[in-house]
Amino acid sequence: MAVRLGCIADDFTGATDLANNLVRAGMRVIQLIDVPQGGAEQPLDADAVVIALKSRTTPASDAVAASLRALEWLRAAGAEQIYFKYCSTFDSTRAGNIGPVTEALMDALGTDFTVATPAFPDNGRTVFKGHLFVGDVLLSESGMRHHPLTPMTDSNLVSVLGAQTKRPVGLIDHSVVAAGADEIARRVETLRAQGVGAAIVDAVSNDDLVRLGAAVKGLPLVTAGSGLAIGLPANWGFEPSPAAAELPAPGGHQAVISGSVSSATNGQVREFLRGGRPAFRVDPLRVAAGEDVAGQALAFAAAQLAEGPVLVYSTEAPDAVKDVQGHLGVAEAGELVEQTLARVARGLVELGVRQLVVAGGETSGAVVQALGVTGLRIGPQIDPGVPWCAAALPGGDTLHITLKSGNFGGPGFFTTSFDRLDGETA
Ligand code: ADP
Repeated sequence: MAVRLGCIADDFTGATDLANNLVRAGMRVIQLIDVPQGGAEQPLDADAVVIALKSRTTPASDAVAASLRALEWLRAAGAEQIYFKYCSTFDSTRAGNIGPVTEALMDALGTDFTVATPAFPDNGRTVFKGHLFVGDVLLSESGMRHHPLTPMTDSNLVSVLGAQTKRPVGLIDHSVVAAGADEIARRVETLRAQGVGAAIVDAVSNDDLVRLGAAVKGLPLVTAGSGLAIGLPANWGFEPSPAAAELPAPGGHQAVISGSVSSATNGQVREFLRGGRPAFRVDPLRVAAGEDVAGQALAFAAAQLAEGPVLVYSTEAPDAVKDVQGHLGVAEAGELVEQTLARVARGLVELGVRQLVVAGGETSGAVVQALGVTGLRIGPQIDPGVPWCAAALPGGDTLHITLKSGNFGGPGFFTTSFDRLDGETA
């Protein structure tokens, strides 16, 4: 077993999304949270490794440094091709970070050409004539134009990437992509001869991504959203197979921690409560008043865990959240809740929970850090983009965990996810 593909993702949930796509295309995948301190254990038992960074909105020089550290680690682990993964809405500022990171990786790899495409048709992200569409509208007309950190006001990715790079940026348009892998490869050679360093590639369907995947076989570096992942594993002979998603057999108690306040998560909490299942609500105002709310949640859970999944949640409807934020401040309320739920997660694991559902992107980060989890083996998909994972706890036990960001998952997610785990492994 050798690592074929080494991936550098600019945020955590994006990393999981990529890992999930690679697993579904037949690769066995490990996701690492940040670059490990030591070198790679040899040989690593995975076909692909995804390193999750937090480099999307950091200063460009920090993003470059972190990405180069990840590159070094992945090459030492034996990766034959590098995949720089960014958001399918090409989230970046005018200063970067997609362009500077791409060029730094090219320089380090000694390559003069790469491709760039955030296309992910399954999620409504398509690229045509170099313009990115989000659903039916151009990126610049989508909600992304108002993003607080990375407002995207230009849909023309050739100009967006061109403004972030020293190298000329070109286009491989859909007529070429539709003509097949050989035609794409020929266009790559033409652009390369013209001195183009990176080419935006059109893709409006999964077939386009599969053709592109075949054409970029052997390129040292590809850059993309998570969509291109469906087209790469075949280059090493991988085919979709349930074996790629195999995890160790699950054991222990089951619990759900929810710190997301998105509407999908509100629905999932309501559905869980409707089933009459045990649930403990974390009230941020009581935490702020100095009550030991985490301790109360754990005492509640301890009495119930033997009967089935227990939910601990701070999830509230938007009005109630605004009210809390008005009292405590937005950042302070968030931090207080995250720290409380992280303590609850640690306590639940001490109580014997070994199957854990976590809802909320920031909440997931806090929980994973509190548990000392540094890597995840990616298992079967529960709902689109959300897989079960297996993590080694510092004591050596295995924890099955799924990290669901905001609006992912169907209404029954907090119970059906456990059924899915029992059905897939064992
Ligand atoms: P999502 O993926 O849905 O955005 P996150 O966990 O990333 O979820 O973000 C939710 C944020 O809201 C976190 O910082 C969390 O601590 C905070 N939060 C959760 N519950 C409450 C609440 N009842 N009042 C105020 N803030 C909350």
